[in-house]
Amino acid sequence: MCGIVGYIGSNRAYDILIQGLKRLEYRGYDSAGVALVDCDGKLKIHKSQGKVSNLESIASGANVEGHLGIAHTRWATHGEPNDINAHPHVSQSGMIALVHNGTIENYAVLKKVLMEHGYEFKSETDTEVLVQLIEYIKLTSSCTLLEAVREALLQVEGAYAIAVVEQNDPDTLIVARKSSPLVIGVGENETFIASDATPIVGYTDQVIYLKDNEIGVIRRGEPVQVLSMFNNEPSTINIQKLKLSLAQLEKGGYDTFMLKEIFEQPSTLRDCLRGRIVDNCRRVTLSGVDLNQERFKTAERITLVACGTSWHAALIGKRLIQDFCKMPVEVEYASEFRYGNPVLNEKDIVISISQSGETADTLAAIELAKAKGAFVYGICNVVGASIPRTTDSGTYIHVGPEIGVASTKAFTGQVTVLTLLALSVGQLRGAIDDATLHEVLAALDKIPETIEEALKVDPEVKKLSRIFSYAHNFLYLGRGYNYPTALEGALKLKEISYIHAEGYPAAEMKHGPIALIDHDMPSVIIAPSDSLYDKIISNVQQVKSRGGAVVAIVSKGNKAMNDIADFCIEIPEVPECLTPLVASIPLQLLAYYIAVNKGKDVDQPRNLAKSVTVE
Ligand code: GLU
Repeated sequence: MCGIVGYIGSNRAYDILIQGLKRLEYRGYDSAGVALVDCDGKLKIHKSQGKVSNLESIASGANVEGHLGIAHTRWATHGEPNDINAHPHVSQSGMIALVHNGTIENYAVLKKVLMEHGYEFKSETDTEVLVQLIEYIKLTSSCTLLEAVREALLQVEGAYAIAVVEQNDPDTLIVARKSSPLVIGVGENETFIASDATPIVGYTDQVIYLKDNEIGVIRRGEPVQVLSMFNNEPSTINIQKLKLSLAQLEKGGYDTFMLKEIFEQPSTLRDCLRGRIVDNCRRVTLSGVDLNQERFKTAERITLVACGTSWHAALIGKRLIQDFCKMPVEVEYASEFRYGNPVLNEKDIVISISQSGETADTLAAIELAKAKGAFVYGICNVVGASIPRTTDSGTYIHVGPEIGVASTKAFTGQVTVLTLLALSVGQLRGAIDDATLHEVLAALDKIPETIEEALKVDPEVKKLSRIFSYAHNFLYLGRGYNYPTALEGALKLKEISYIHAEGYPAAEMKHGPIALIDHDMPSVIIAPSDSLYDKIISNVQQVKSRGGAVVAIVSKGNKAMNDIADFCIEIPEVPECLTPLVASIPLQLLAYYIAVNKGKDVDQPRNLAKSVTVE
């Protein structure tokens, strides 16, 4: 993870870098740092453990002049989050500074060799090895910084996006990437670099997405140059127009990004659905499927690969595809799939799901699936990210930038796209009857309004959250379509309130977790009026008989649960396959308010980062 940002131009680099770091803080906030090259050729480093605001405090009053700089907000992989391990890291002579997102896998071997050559290391990071190696190559081969960077990168194994500056060259910024994202923003006489486009918004809408194994050379007053790391040949530069706006990156009157993102779901789902339900709710059009009809018609199996919340969406996707396409589906954690010797061939479709489109394990799973001949489809939010550029085809969820670390609107966007995809492929394969297709599509078309209705439980959930903020453990139970909803509800609570919560299939609970139930362990039970409603009622009775408090999420007007559960939260009635979308709303709010009651930082929970670009 980590966020990197850089600037070269005629404005004060520090201000631009700090603002950029704040926009990238969702990627990690263990420490922050900045390296500035002064007009008089001095390299100034300021860095501090913790958030960007700490960096600002330590830098206040210090000399932060300079028109060239690089900066970093860290999610530690090698070495604890402290001042010394904070980036930028500087070479032994103090001449070269570097920021890095990723991991250098062979850092121990390289470090040993460098130490034998007299290099001393200050930090425990893998990154410091890279900056020392660059300096070692530069000095021993008497080459330029660019040549040294290229040579060093050919020696390192792992994943990286880096930015490098040198004290005696205030006119050059060098960047490179392999498996970690890097965007270059081309302005009027100024250039920006960053892990994603958010720090660039407001300055320029002209961007270049650096590709794997490319080096970018940015010289003051000259056009950006991009070279292949392997042969040093210039690459074709594709300048794209950025479609992000500043308003999308702000809180819009809400206390936190997470609350804003929960409440904007009616409009994000409207964006997600726009133009995709056609012919009076009788057909879906997804260009990714429409352009590849033969692959979808002849496929023998679909495997969904994802991590975290996206994996929960994938579990819902499995049910949707089974129900509407009547074909075999598997769901895999990308991190397990990539090392699990999956058996795949050209009759397989692999659907990868990732909000950021940069998840390292998911990217590796895609490469593996492609190598085995499978057709790979991507479901992603961030336009132009690595996953949509790597997959054979795919669909954007179009829910706008998700900044809160705990995913909310991206989850409902992913489930919406999976529903569209299952219906579209089901129709293509003749596996779904017209009446069912029409019924589901008509309800899906109205889902933005339904979610608006569901959000009205906000005051009730807020009140309820006060009762449960004391709990140390929670159980979330659901069945069928809502077993994954239970997993996602539990994950939300864990992520932002640090309360242990376990999601479980309601009927499986009696095979173990039931032993945990007592007066201090509440259960949240997702029990809409669906085909398993009567079954889940018995599961609720089993919890109640052991003294556990029950919060039940039920369909509007269903009063039967009132006599059994301690608290009922009503959600609008929808077809069974859409219940996860609606039931997720009170679960997001419950997790949110419990975390707020406990005084937690919901947008930036400890130890987490939004986009997981390391293994
Ligand atoms: N490996 C580097 C460190 O620990 C960068 C971490 C990252 O990008 O997540 O400092």
